[in-house]
Amino acid sequence: VSGVQLAELDASRITSTYTASPRPVPVPGSPEIAAQNICTDHMITAKWTVKEGWHAPALQPYGPLSLMPTASCLHYATECFEGLKLYRGYDGKLRLFRANLNAARMLNSATRIALPAFAPTELLKLIMKLCATDGPKWLPKDEPGSFLYLRPTMIASDPALGVQRPNEALLYVILTCFPRLDAPTIGADGSPQGMKLLASGDDTIRAWPGGFGHAKVGANYGPSLVAQGEARKAGYNQILWLFGDNCEVTEAGASNFFVVWRTRSGATELVTAPLDRKIILDGVTRRSVLQLVRERLSESTENVQGLDIVERNIQMDEIVQAAGDGRLLEAFAAGTAFFISPVQEIHFRGTDIRVPMTAGEAGPYTKQIKTWLSDIMYGKEHHEWGIVV
Ligand code: PMP
Repeated sequence: VSGVQLAELDASRITSTYTASPRPVPVPGSPEIAAQNICTDHMITAKWTVKEGWHAPALQPYGPLSLMPTASCLHYATECFEGLKLYRGYDGKLRLFRANLNAARMLNSATRIALPAFAPTELLKLIMKLCATDGPKWLPKDEPGSFLYLRPTMIASDPALGVQRPNEALLYVILTCFPRLDAPTIGADGSPQGMKLLASGDDTIRAWPGGFGHAKVGANYGPSLVAQGEARKAGYNQILWLFGDNCEVTEAGASNFFVVWRTRSGATELVTAPLDRKIILDGVTRRSVLQLVRERLSESTENVQGLDIVERNIQMDEIVQAAGDGRLLEAFAAGTAFFISPVQEIHFRGTDIRVPMTAGEAGPYTKQIKTWLSDIMYGKEHHEWGIVV
C-alpha cells in the first residue's frame, strides 16, 4: 500500500448519536455499584483497518459490540486496556488525573501486541468527550468526592483465524460505576483493617523479563485469577507478586507496592520496585507518589521529613528482617482502583508478617501521600495533574 495515506486517529471527526433511553444513576453505595456492571449512557468507538487506518470515531449509546466468532482478540489475546477515574471535585468541577499518562501507556500496550498506533492526545480528547457527555449526569454536582471509572480498550477484530498481526481493530471507551476500594474493611472485632496480602508461590509468576508485564494487556490478568481467587477464599485481599529465586517483591494485585522502613544505618526509606526490567506496570499512581514525595520533601512537611526515595529490587527476606527488627514502618498498595491502601499483613511461606498499624489506620507517611493525591484529584488543591473536563 505504498503511497496510500492511512488516516490517523482524529477526535475532531467524531460523530455523535445520543441515547433515546437514558438510564437511572444508581444510588451511591448501592450493591449495583459493587457489581461493577453498570455503564453510563454512552460510549466512544473508533474502528481501524490496515487498508484505511482510523475511521471517524463515534459517540453512541452504550450497548453490545458485534464481533465474529473468529475475531482475533477472542483467540490470541490481542487486547489491551486502561483504567482511570473521573472525579467530582469539591469545587463542583469534573476532573481526570494525569490522563495523558494513561493515553501514552495505552499506546505502549497496543503496540506491544501488534495493535495499531495512534496519537495519545487524540485518545485523550475522546476520553474527555465521553466524560463531558455523561459526567454531569452520572456524577451529580451535589456529591463531591465521588468518581466513575473509565475503561479505554482496544481489541483486534479481524474476522479470520490466521495467527498474524491484526488487520482490523476497534478502540472503545466506556465509563462505569465503580466501588470505593480504599476504604478499610471492618474486621471481626469491629476495628478497621488494612489489606492482607498473600505472597505468590513458585508456580505462579505474573511477569518475567522479556515478557509483557509492563503492558496493560488482558493476557497479564486472566492467568492471575486462579491465584487471586484462592487468595480471596483464604481471606486475603490480593496476591503480592514475587519474582525470581530471591523472592523479589514486584506488585500487589493490580497495584504497585511500596514499603517504608528504617535501614540498619538509621535512614528512613520509601522503597518500591524499579521499572527497568519491564516486569511491572508503570503505574500513574506510583509515578505520582514518587514525584510528590521527591518534590515536597524539601518543603519540610513534618510527616515526610527525612524520607529517602529508593527504586530498587526488594527481597522478601529484607521485609522479613525489617519486620523482625521493628524497622518495618508502613506498606501500601498504590493504583487507580485501590488508590492508596495500607497493608497490614503479608503471608509468606507459612508466616504472617505484620506491618504495624494503629487500629487499622494508615501510618503517617501513607496518610500524607493519600491526602496529597486526593486533594489534587478532587480539586482541593489546584495542580497541573488535575485535568478539568
Ligand atoms: N500494576 C498493575 C498490574 C495494574 O494493573 C495497575 C492498574 N493499572 C497498577 C499497577 C497501578 O497503575 P495505576 O496507578 O496507573 O492505576
